[in-house]
Amino acid sequence: PKYVYDFTEGNKDLKDLLGGKGANLAEMTNLGLPVPPGFTITTEACRVYLDSGAEPPALRDEVSAHLAELEQRMGRKLGQSDDPLLVSVRSGAKFSMPGMMDTVLNIGLSDDSVAGLAAQAGGDDRFAWDSYRRLVQMFGKTVLGVDGDLFEEALEAAKRAKGADSDLGLDAADLRGLVEEFKAIVAKEAGREFPQEPREQMDLAVRAVFDSWNTDRARLYRRQERIPGDLGTAVNIVAMVFGNLGPDSGTGVAFTRDPATGAQGVYGDYLQNAQGEDVVAGIRNTVPLADLERIDKTSYDRLLAIMETLETHYKDLCDIEFTIERGQLWMLQTRVGKRTAAAAFQIATQLVDQGLIDEAEALRRVTGAQLAQLMFPRFDDAATARGSVRRIGWGIAASPGAAVGKAVFDSYTAVKWSRSGEKVILIRRETNPDDLSGMIAAEGILTSRGGKTSHAAVVARGMGKTCVCGAEELEVDTKRRCLTAPGGLVLEEGDLISIDGSTGKVYLGEVPVVPSPVVEYFEGRMHAGAEEAGELVRAVHRIMAYADRVRRLRVRANADNAEDAARARRFGAQGIGLCRTEHMFLGERRELVERLILADTDGEREDALKALLPLQRADFVELFEAMDGLPVTVRLLDPPLHEFLPDITELSVRVALAEARKDANENDLRLLQAVHKLHEQNPMLGLRGVRLGLVVPGLFAMQVRAIAEAAAQRIAAGGDPRPEIMVPLVGTVQELEIVRDEADAIVAEVREATGADLDLSIGTMIELPRAALTAGQIAEAAEFFSFGTNDLTQTVWGFSRDDVEASFFTAYLEKGIFGVSPFETIDADGVGALVRSAAEAGRATRPDLKLGVCGEHGGDPESVHFFHRAGLDYVSCSPFRIPVARLEAARAAA
Ligand code: PEP
Ligand code: MG
Repeated sequence: PKYVYDFTEGNKDLKDLLGGKGANLAEMTNLGLPVPPGFTITTEACRVYLDSGAEPPALRDEVSAHLAELEQRMGRKLGQSDDPLLVSVRSGAKFSMPGMMDTVLNIGLSDDSVAGLAAQAGGDDRFAWDSYRRLVQMFGKTVLGVDGDLFEEALEAAKRAKGADSDLGLDAADLRGLVEEFKAIVAKEAGREFPQEPREQMDLAVRAVFDSWNTDRARLYRRQERIPGDLGTAVNIVAMVFGNLGPDSGTGVAFTRDPATGAQGVYGDYLQNAQGEDVVAGIRNTVPLADLERIDKTSYDRLLAIMETLETHYKDLCDIEFTIERGQLWMLQTRVGKRTAAAAFQIATQLVDQGLIDEAEALRRVTGAQLAQLMFPRFDDAATARGSVRRIGWGIAASPGAAVGKAVFDSYTAVKWSRSGEKVILIRRETNPDDLSGMIAAEGILTSRGGKTSHAAVVARGMGKTCVCGAEELEVDTKRRCLTAPGGLVLEEGDLISIDGSTGKVYLGEVPVVPSPVVEYFEGRMHAGAEEAGELVRAVHRIMAYADRVRRLRVRANADNAEDAARARRFGAQGIGLCRTEHMFLGERRELVERLILADTDGEREDALKALLPLQRADFVELFEAMDGLPVTVRLLDPPLHEFLPDITELSVRVALAEARKDANENDLRLLQAVHKLHEQNPMLGLRGVRLGLVVPGLFAMQVRAIAEAAAQRIAAGGDPRPEIMVPLVGTVQELEIVRDEADAIVAEVREATGADLDLSIGTMIELPRAALTAGQIAEAAEFFSFGTNDLTQTVWGFSRDDVEASFFTAYLEKGIFGVSPFETIDADGVGALVRSAAEAGRATRPDLKLGVCGEHGGDPESVHFFHRAGLDYVSCSPFRIPVARLEAARAAA
């Protein structure tokens, strides 16, 4: 294979091979944009290296050939002493992993060539020595593994000695001294001299970039972002251009539109007389990009024109890194930019309006996860406007959301506290990749330095985490673990703080939250056309309309009362896919269930059932009314009966104490006896679902009668009820047949008695492996299947759904056994395979068999795509996830 591609040879569709950065540098080169010449070593070379521990043998010669070509084009040789070519060695994986992997600048500098660089720069010795100083430092840290603090400390000491407050206060001689010091640090710490041979520098840097694929922080980031661990990174070798050659040089980052709202305009940061990494690291404070117009109008105009070219070409928001070297603009990177959830929806519809993309593409540009984010509550404007909460700072709104938590000042504490259930806000002066675990653990992130493109901002946006950055008036002291606000107010570790990532405001204490405008819109309390609804709601409204046009899967709700049903309907539910009737037996009715369980005689039991019947019937009447005209799947009672009785331990203690006092009461004794009788070691595998219906006479009959009578009542009232009776936990068709025969008889009876034209289908859950494996037989007795993927996951894996997530899942996730809990996202290979084969077998028996899913997976984006592909008719999920499921069902079909 070919391991090296010149920028003129690649294009944006080769991301798998060239990584995102390399592919896009090639694309820009071919668009005729000013990209410094260079070449890309493929991800394939990296994979060979990671697998075998050595570069592929052919790599060296290929690199030599491309380097020779580059040298010829630049008219300079790498590291040539009187006129050196310098290059940067930059990582670039298929998926962007901001700041996670290594980059080394100024490769090619040595004791020999530093004077040559000074000559190139018009005799600027200071610049040359500063560049060399940066090389030894970066190389020492990232390639040779020397502790970076040692260099920082030496730099600080040099500044102190000079009385300088920034490195700009150091002159050429100081920097030259510092280079010697840095080289000594390298020799001591790395056990080898800093390599003077340019090609050796380059080769070692390439290898270091390969290795950086597997650092802890890169692995953690990938797990978080669900990026596969075996992709490897490409390496870009690019001719250096310098943003630090004086005031007519600089470096910056820009977005083609506002990544927070999608609004068109000039967004970005610029840093005069600096090298690229200074901006992203948020070390020095930048100026807004608009200021570049004043500083260098020619470059500014050129940049805006390039941004327009890029946006039209990529048909999307792009972000850009650029450098200006003595008035000459260079593009160092572009990519389709990360954006907030709100911006994603607005940009998608804006691009449709501009004719750049169609509706199907607009659906691909947004995700259900983004929609879910927009449905989070926000801070109550009324509370903040009233001044009942105290604002202590105002930074940059870097990643939206409303986060409240206890202040913590380091990642370790963030992780520790969040593990013990605390909500925390991670507060740092600025973040770097080492803070990743803390950022993941925190509700939100607050920094006092850095702009919209600082590490904290970029990473938080990627994770959908609330972030306020650059709140400069807040003084963060990580050593003393406190934050000082203007006026001297001090916030200590553990104090409550609220941050608003949509406005950048920071509040002391806990600010109350209100529902999101998107939820208000779904609730029908806000119209898409209304003034206050704004851009965002209009965009969501349009995307949802596209979604409903293209999706094939129907979306139903898991709801057990009229209120939830009505909300689900407002959110777009096309019926109820699961009404868990056990939820109707709680509260005051529990006593009736207790009577049913404790009944000694048929008469007592019948009395208890008779008392329950009208209550159940009334429940169903309300439910059918709320879902009038739409199907309502009512599941017969599922959980073990002992769940309706008192806790065995508590009751035992109570009875024992009473006995000791010699005043045990008759009822408690009977109750305890019943609790003992019903007690099971593994209730989830015990007397529940259809098993219960078969051993407690009259229970299912009562429920079926309540359903049928409620339907008849609705019909009499002019309604259009569409009940479906669902039998849980069936493992064999015989179980279903017995229930079915009984139910058919009752329905016929009610039909007779009321004269109502009842249309009532009977089906089953498929939630046991045996049911899935014998689905062809079960379909003989079922008009529909609803996959209960919660129990199916539990039984296929043998994972107790109530226990394992808290016990060993963290370890499993860390070991990469799965990337996400199978209770959250369907295990396509295992549980999913059973779903597919059961669906197929069921349909073979009964071609018009209706197929749905009502486990938690019904509202999970990735799983919805799976169910679409598996050919199900609908998914059913909790009301709040319905819009997400509608959108993802459409994305699966688009
Ligand atoms: C299931 O098992 O997937 C299901 C929906 O039923 P429950 O969660 O009530 O057991
Ligand atoms: Mg179940």
